[in-house]
Amino acid sequence: MPSEDSIQSIENSAAQVIEGTDSLAGLEAVKTQYLGKNGIVTEQLKRISSLPVEKRKEFGQALNRIKIQIAERIQARHENLERAFLDQQFRDQSIDVTLPGRSGTLGTIHPISRTLRRMEQIFDRLGFRVAEGPEIENDYYNFEALNIPANHPARAMHDTFYIHDHGLLRTHTSPVQVRFMQTHRPPIRIIAPGKVFRCDSDVTHTPMFHQLEGLSVDSDVTFADLKGVIIHFIHEFFEAEPKVRFRSSYFPFTEPSAEVDMGCVFCGGEGCRICRHTGWIEVLGCGMVHPEVLKHGSIDPDKYTGYAFGLGIERLTMLRYGVRDLRYFFNSELSFLRQF
Ligand SMILES: [Zn+2]
Repeated sequence: MPSEDSIQSIENSAAQVIEGTDSLAGLEAVKTQYLGKNGIVTEQLKRISSLPVEKRKEFGQALNRIKIQIAERIQARHENLERAFLDQQFRDQSIDVTLPGRSGTLGTIHPISRTLRRMEQIFDRLGFRVAEGPEIENDYYNFEALNIPANHPARAMHDTFYIHDHGLLRTHTSPVQVRFMQTHRPPIRIIAPGKVFRCDSDVTHTPMFHQLEGLSVDSDVTFADLKGVIIHFIHEFFEAEPKVRFRSSYFPFTEPSAEVDMGCVFCGGEGCRICRHTGWIEVLGCGMVHPEVLKHGSIDPDKYTGYAFGLGIERLTMLRYGVRDLRYFFNSELSFLRQF
C-alpha cells in the first residue's frame, strides 16, 4: 500500500530526473515515464481502487497533488530548455557587425605608373611642373622643330610609325618642349612624361614605351644646373649615392650633349651582368637646348639658355626593381604585377 513517504519519494526522484534532463526529447521521455499511460504516477492511481475506502480519498488527493507538481515542473523545465535552445540558436546564427568585412582582392599600382609617380614627386620638389602633349604628332614637332630636318641621319634611328604624309606617332616626348615654349614665357621648368612609339620589338624594345622629358629655360641656366638636377634625381630615385658621370654625346636638339652613366648599384662598380661588366649603367641623355630649338619655341637664344633631358621610364623601372625582361610590363601577368 502506498504511503505518504513513498509518494514523497516519487516526487523527489521526479524532481531530480527533471532537473537533470537537458534536452526537450529527454524531457518528453520523463513525462511518459511518470505521467504516461503506464507511468509511475498513473500506476499508483490505478491502485487506489484496491485501497480501503477510507484511505482512497487521502491518497488520491496526494497522488493528484504530485501529479500536478510533476506536470508543472516538466512544463517549467520545458520552457527553460526551449529558451536556452533559442538563445543558443541566436548566438550561433548572429552576425557580428563590428567585424571587418571580407574585401575582394585589390589591384596594385602598375610598376610603370609607380615609377612615374616617384619621378613626378622628385621633380615636383625641384620646382618642375607636369606638361602634356599629343601622342599623334606631326613631322614639324617630332623632328623639324627639334633640329632634325628632312634627310637628317638621326631620323633613321627613330623607326617611326607614320600615319599619313605628315602625321606620325611621336617617337619621343621632346615635341612637348617646343609646344610648351611656344605657349609659355621663361622661366620654364617642366617635365613631360608620356607614351612614345617606335617600330621595334625584342627583349629590350616594345613598340610603345614611356619617356620623361625635362626642360628648364631661363636667363642664366647653365650646364652646372643640369648636372645638379640630374645627380640629385639619380640619388633620390635609386635611394643610393652612386657615382655619376657625364659622357659627351650627340643629339640634334642639344648642344653640348651628354649621356649620363651611374656607377652600377648592383655590383658596386665591380662589374656584373646588368652593367655588362663595365661597372657603369647608362641612365639618360641630356644637354643644353640647341639655339635652333629655342628659336622654334619663339624664345630668343641670345637672351635665354636652357637644358633638357630625356629618360626611359621602363628602363629605369627595370633598374630600380631588377626586372630583366621589358615585356613583363605589358603582358598583364598577375604573378608579376602583384609583387609591386
Ligand atoms: Zn654591375
